[in-house]
Amino acid sequence: ADADTADEAVRATCDDATTCKRFATSKGYWKDSSLQYFVRSVGERKAPEINRGYYARVQGVNLLLDAFLKKTQGHCQVINLGAGLDTTFWRLQEENLLPRKLFEVDFPTVVARKIHHIKTKPPLSKPIIDVHSTDSLLLESHVLDSDRFCIIGADLRDVPGLDEKLRRFQLDPELPTLLLSECVLVYMSPAQSSSLVHWAAQTFHTAMFINYEQVNMSDRFGQVMIENLQRRRCALAGVELCQSLDSQKERFLRAGWDQANALDMMAVYSVLPQDDVARIERLEFLDEKELLQQLLQHYCICWATKDRLNLGLSQLAF
Ligand code: SAM
Repeated sequence: ADADTADEAVRATCDDATTCKRFATSKGYWKDSSLQYFVRSVGERKAPEINRGYYARVQGVNLLLDAFLKKTQGHCQVINLGAGLDTTFWRLQEENLLPRKLFEVDFPTVVARKIHHIKTKPPLSKPIIDVHSTDSLLLESHVLDSDRFCIIGADLRDVPGLDEKLRRFQLDPELPTLLLSECVLVYMSPAQSSSLVHWAAQTFHTAMFINYEQVNMSDRFGQVMIENLQRRRCALAGVELCQSLDSQKERFLRAGWDQANALDMMAVYSVLPQDDVARIERLEFLDEKELLQQLLQHYCICWATKDRLNLGLSQLAF
């Protein structure tokens, strides 16, 4: 029962991400036309540094993701691990950047909620149907499978189960593959996240893994972040791997990836396109620049590659 309570708290984190993104997009930080169908109301105000933090997270991850899609010319697949209510499918469909197939994985209850939204909202279902050409669209309560988009309920801590489910829905290990995890690995033990990362390195010969999560957690600010989550019964089981950028990279290098990079979000923020950064900095007045800096220093993007097809994946960077 304790494990169930802990998992339930972890599942609830996807709503935090979605409501924060909803608020930031309502202020104009970036555009997301499908988010409104997952959370109707804009919700209570979030502090400017939170909005800027989400801006850096979304833009940073999208920059690497889009670079991978361009490098492979869409001849690839994307697997979003712990996708929650992520809206990447709709963005890529709109921008005509869809990979061959986009897979999403999350706990079955989260997946069921997402599929319910898709089933009941034509602006979400229509783009899926539009890019589907065979007659085999599968839209059940716990699984969606179409030509270009697939949503699977699975526990990421059960790697053989995950592998079996992905293959059942035509995962192709021969295709260049991008794996993405945003604030997900930190909820697993180091052994569990390492075996997931190891599975990915074993399964795909040409791949990139993008991981976004907490880092530099051993200082006072990090301790407060951990305590806040614990108060909500949300244990950061993987927090040991969030001690430094080096430990983030090591997780990948030890698990069979050829090359790994990591930047804290302060560094990412400073290499994002600066005209757009200047635009968003005018949206809301931020009194305490130091607060933003501290927040950004406690999150990072780590990306790892292996590249048997010699596509030049190791050059992908900001
Ligand atoms: N990646 C999404 C985003 O950035 O908007 C959601 C992030 S949310 C903080 C973490 C997500 O990971 C939740 O949807 C949760 O259910 C999922 N998750 C965590 N541990 C998982 C596990 N063991 N198996 C499947 N999903 C998991």
